[in-house]
This record gives sequence, structure tokens and C-alpha cells, in this order.
Amino acid sequence: MSILTAERALPSPAAGWRVLLVGLGGLGCPAALALVRAGVGVLRLCDDDQVDEANLHRQILFGPQDVGTDKLRAAERTLRPLAQASGTRIELVHSRFLPENARALARDVDLVIEGADNFATKFLVADACHLEGRPLVHGAGLRWLGTAWSVTAAGRPCYRCLFEDVPAEPVANCDAAGVMGPVVGIIGALMAELGLRTLSARGACNQLWTVDGKTDTLRQVPVAARVDCPLCGSAPSIHEIEESRYLAASA
Ligand SMILES: [Zn+2]
Repeated sequence: MSILTAERALPSPAAGWRVLLVGLGGLGCPAALALVRAGVGVLRLCDDDQVDEANLHRQILFGPQDVGTDKLRAAERTLRPLAQASGTRIELVHSRFLPENARALARDVDLVIEGADNFATKFLVADACHLEGRPLVHGAGLRWLGTAWSVTAAGRPCYRCLFEDVPAEPVANCDAAGVMGPVVGIIGALMAELGLRTLSARGACNQLWTVDGKTDTLRQVPVAARVDCPLCGSAPSIHEIEESRYLAASA
């Protein structure tokens, strides 16, 4: 099976790519669907949350019958027939992505895709992937805006080049501020595309994709590496995962 079914221009991904998907929210759900249908060898889902009725408009793996139940089990039920058809194995990690498991989770896969809903987890994923030399795709969405971009295994430019550090003050999230379902649907599909491109050696884009649902605008913005970046700069100061950097992630 090819990820370009009609043209068969790319090598079969069923050779055994292992992908870790952090977060089964509005971004992770469409990304998971695309990755399973593309036939990645192993898709490992990492989340510990339950399905919330208020999020059904964007979490497209779930239906009303799943409200209040475990997200991973509900996702597995939806994805199972698709996974069987494409030769993908679904694996479940019933945990948040935390400082104590971050490096091991990143080390054990070929690619990490994160659709986390908070900055602390995003920085933790970024640091763990950089330290383990794993490529990473980031995605985010809030109200009418969404972003996606990929970081190579070399890890430069990285998430800290763009956002520097976990915000000191509370910031708006989807639960409080809301998000347009179609916007995160577009971003989730983009995340899967960036991931498949990375896995098939088409390279990372080093461009930040932005989607504005109010103006129907899709743009690419270059991401510049910072010389003084603490993770990937010329004299990095981050050499290991220290829990104190990600207090909100483990709150
Ligand atoms: Zn950096």
C-alpha cells in the first residue's frame, strides 16, 4: 500500500514506521485518521483523558456514545477497521506525556506528532525529541487560528527558537476560548502530511503553516534558528529533562 495510492510514487510506509501521537484532541483525531489510512506501521496514541461532549465538534474520532469514556479505547474502536485494512498496529499509552516518561517515549519511535493543548507539554515534547534526536511535528489551534510545522531529527530550528520558553502567565486554551472544528481539522491533516513527508525522507519544511479560518488564508512563514537558543543554539543549556521546566505539564 502506498501513501499515494493512485500514483504509487512513495515507498510503502508499511515497512515499519513507528509514530507517537501526543494528545487525542481536535488536532490528534484528524491526524490519527490520516496516519492510519496512510498505513504507518505502528501508531502509538498517548493520552489519559475522557471524551467530553463539549469537544465532539472537533474530536472527530468520537461520537455521543463515547462521552465520559476513555479516549484511547474509543479511538481504538473507531480506528481498528481502518488499521486492519491498511496494515497499521494501534498501540495505547494510557498516560500523559510527562517528564518521567518523555525521553523513553520519544526514543522508541521514528517520529513524534504533538497536538497537546498546553505550552508546558509542547515544550516538554520539543526538548525530549531534540535530546533523543527524533523528528517532531507540532500543531496548535485556538479560536479561528491554527499552526503546524515540523522539526527535523537534527532539531534546528526548534520550538524554543520560535517560542523561547513556557509562558510565565496563564494563556487562553481551547476549553476557555473555543476553537473552530474545521480549523483544527485542517491543521491535523497538515500535521499528518508533514509527518509522512518527514518519514519518507521528503524533509521537514522549516516553515510555519498558519491557517486563518476568518479569512480562509493559508500561509507559510519561515522559521529562523536562534544562535542563543538554549536547546539547539551554539551553547545550549538544556541537556536533560528537568521537571521544574514543565510544572504545568504535570499539574
Ligand atoms: Zn532552537
